[in-house]
Amino acid sequence: MLDFSTMPVFDREIETAPRERIREIQLAKLKEQVAWTYDRVAWYREKLDERGVAPADIRTLEDVRLLPFTDKSVLRETFPYGLFAVPLDEVIELHSSSGTTGKPIVVGYNVHDMDVWSDCIARLAQMAGVVPGDRAQMAFGYGMFTGGFGLHYGLQKLGCMMIPAGSGNTERHLAMIEDYGTTVLIATPSYAMHMCEVGEKLGFDWEASTLRVGLFGGEPCPPKLKQEIESRMHIVCTDNYGLTEVMGPGVSGECLASRDMQHIAEDHFLWEVVDPETGDPVPDGVEGELVLTPLDKQAIPVLRYRTHDLTRVVTEPCACGRTHARMQKVRVRSDDMLIIRGTNVFPSQVEDVLAGIEGVTTHYRIVVETVGGLDSMTVHVELKASAFSDSFEEMSAFTKRIAEKLKAVLLVGVNVKLVEPGGIERCLGKTKHVEDRRAKL
Ligand SMILES: [Zn+2]
Repeated sequence: MLDFSTMPVFDREIETAPRERIREIQLAKLKEQVAWTYDRVAWYREKLDERGVAPADIRTLEDVRLLPFTDKSVLRETFPYGLFAVPLDEVIELHSSSGTTGKPIVVGYNVHDMDVWSDCIARLAQMAGVVPGDRAQMAFGYGMFTGGFGLHYGLQKLGCMMIPAGSGNTERHLAMIEDYGTTVLIATPSYAMHMCEVGEKLGFDWEASTLRVGLFGGEPCPPKLKQEIESRMHIVCTDNYGLTEVMGPGVSGECLASRDMQHIAEDHFLWEVVDPETGDPVPDGVEGELVLTPLDKQAIPVLRYRTHDLTRVVTEPCACGRTHARMQKVRVRSDDMLIIRGTNVFPSQVEDVLAGIEGVTTHYRIVVETVGGLDSMTVHVELKASAFSDSFEEMSAFTKRIAEKLKAVLLVGVNVKLVEPGGIERCLGKTKHVEDRRAKL
């Protein structure tokens, strides 16, 4: 058992503050943030004026509901600098999220924002057991994507040695772990799994290696995948949640006492959980869409950002000693939803079904196409070497069994194609689980 009383906490005073104190901090910051935004961003000023709401009307935390929602389309409309609240010569870094359609969304940070961001990352790293002096090897790319730099600055703030290896070249990564005595790996879970497999093929001794902690992000990390990486690499892995529109990684992070949840940095983010259809608040602890208001973001303030992520939030004390609310890890991102012959299908449902089947790996791919005017979905499932058989009958019975299990959960018939071990392409960045070949209207 871990003794949480002796484990370091990056900002103990804030992270273990009584909930009443957290609410006081949030309210003071919310008032300032709304005034800051109203004074500096024309888009928000117009929206507040239309509603007849002035910054002085924010008297309680619940008054956040007087403010308009923001969603991704607003960031696109105002591209590139329309929502910026500080002169551009005060912006010290720019990031963007890769939009699959249309313009990307762009966010800027001033010195204060970078400080907050590093703080959030240092907290989540310490939650995972990272300590000053750790040697942290980066396997995210250092591009416009927020992941690489966010983790980089935060780990430096904690006092780690950063090894900025960047993405790709798995053999080089393995050599660097050995050469530099790397103790922390920052990667997407799917890339960590790929490293694990390549390492095993090359005879890399994970048990004897210096690596101790994995900090994952960039994509959801199913519990089964995490456990598999932990046992094969002999490390402890946590993952964090964030999104470029409100900061980047570090909005919330997993502690070792509550592995299915993530502590929200509540002194920096006000959360709401709303009914995704109506936008009304749902009762405490009930699942709904997460809405976030950064409380001290200066360069590009965003009010009530609709994340389209479904979660529930609990405020009960955590065994790790931290008092900040915990959100259930996001499994369903409404943006990922596919509509197959009128039925909603989430890749996470496919993942859950496959996780319960012996003999298949965590790698899969969903291909959707139009056949004879109808949607047709095929799930490519990678076999483990141990489950591979020369018998055609055995393999086709196995295929049929998987298809039946999928249909029972998805409520829509799917084709299943078994793929030999290693046959599903490993992506270095975010894993693309879905290939939608249907013509877009
Ligand atoms: Zn905790």
